[in-house]
Amino acid sequence: MNALAPYAVSDLRSRGRLHAEAPPVERSEYQRDRDRIVHSTAFRRLEYKTQVFVNHEGDLFRTRLTHSIEVAQISRSIARILGLNEDLAESIALAHDLGHTPFGHAGQEALNTCMKAHGGFEHNLQSLRTVDLLEEHYAAFDGLNLTYETREGILKHCSRANAAQLGELGQRFLDGTQPSLEAQLANLADEIAYNNHDIDDGLRSGLISLEQLEAVPIFAANRRAVELAWPGLGGRRLIHETIRRMINQMVLALTARTRHNIAQAGVATLDDVRAAPRLVAYSDELLPRLRELKGFLRDELYHHYQVLRMTNKARRIIADLFNAFMDDTRLLPPQYQARARQDKARAIADYIAGMTDRYAIKEHRRLFAVGEIH
Ligand code: MG
Repeated sequence: MNALAPYAVSDLRSRGRLHAEAPPVERSEYQRDRDRIVHSTAFRRLEYKTQVFVNHEGDLFRTRLTHSIEVAQISRSIARILGLNEDLAESIALAHDLGHTPFGHAGQEALNTCMKAHGGFEHNLQSLRTVDLLEEHYAAFDGLNLTYETREGILKHCSRANAAQLGELGQRFLDGTQPSLEAQLANLADEIAYNNHDIDDGLRSGLISLEQLEAVPIFAANRRAVELAWPGLGGRRLIHETIRRMINQMVLALTARTRHNIAQAGVATLDDVRAAPRLVAYSDELLPRLRELKGFLRDELYHHYQVLRMTNKARRIIADLFNAFMDDTRLLPPQYQARARQDKARAIADYIAGMTDRYAIKEHRRLFAVGEIH
């Protein structure tokens, strides 16, 4: 790690952990957070959770695990360029999707609908719940007991109602202040990662084509640059060379603009960062290019009929499971039955959110397929 900027998060400026612990030996507080996240159960489950394509549809598509690793890579790069805390940015990136349900956004929406009358379901809040409460790893406390700064970064969004329950951590959603720059950058690194890898996965799946992408200016321009440098290049290499240039362009546009914003706002300390408007941002030139790209992915990939057929099925599976457990909590595994006695709907949501895609499908079959007896 290079020298930290004065407005970066550092061990010395940490607001600490919920449960007091001795400082780590030979590693920083944020390295310890990162290590705990990598060793958690929820992290390993990300391998079998959908990003866009259901996990078993193909071996080469991104899962939430490979997505999270790409977000961590981009986050570290940006943090290093800006003199920010790389270990913290990496921790936030690796943990940012821990609370995601099976089946991607379709699963999250379905669970939120089921939970409407019971406080709702927000995946960012569920990620926080996972690291604060649900992981069972340590003798002295529930969860992973991460630092305030990692937890702050995990909670990207939060409704005002839920924020009000969270004390210090929820305060910024009520008073409109900002999290650390490391949290801000991990948030945009997430976007850079999925906007680019969804093009790659979309092409690989055959649901979108290179011809269609000619209508997306940022892709078309970078493809032209590749073809100029490598005349006649085609196939996977053409796609990868184009996408790596796009990632690079986005990272550089973001770091240049962010540096400018930091200087402009006269930010000198971490407190200044929290009080200033959001400082990590894309350049004005890049914003319309990103809007076009996102619009394309929404219309041509996320709303592709084959994807919608899958998400429709996913919604049904989540709703069926939720309703069956609500009707009879004795169908839950014993440890969740105990939790359900305190808060039935939340215990069921925790159980469902923790499932991998294939576990949810199997559980659905176990509960509903006539002729299956176990
Ligand atoms: Mg993500």
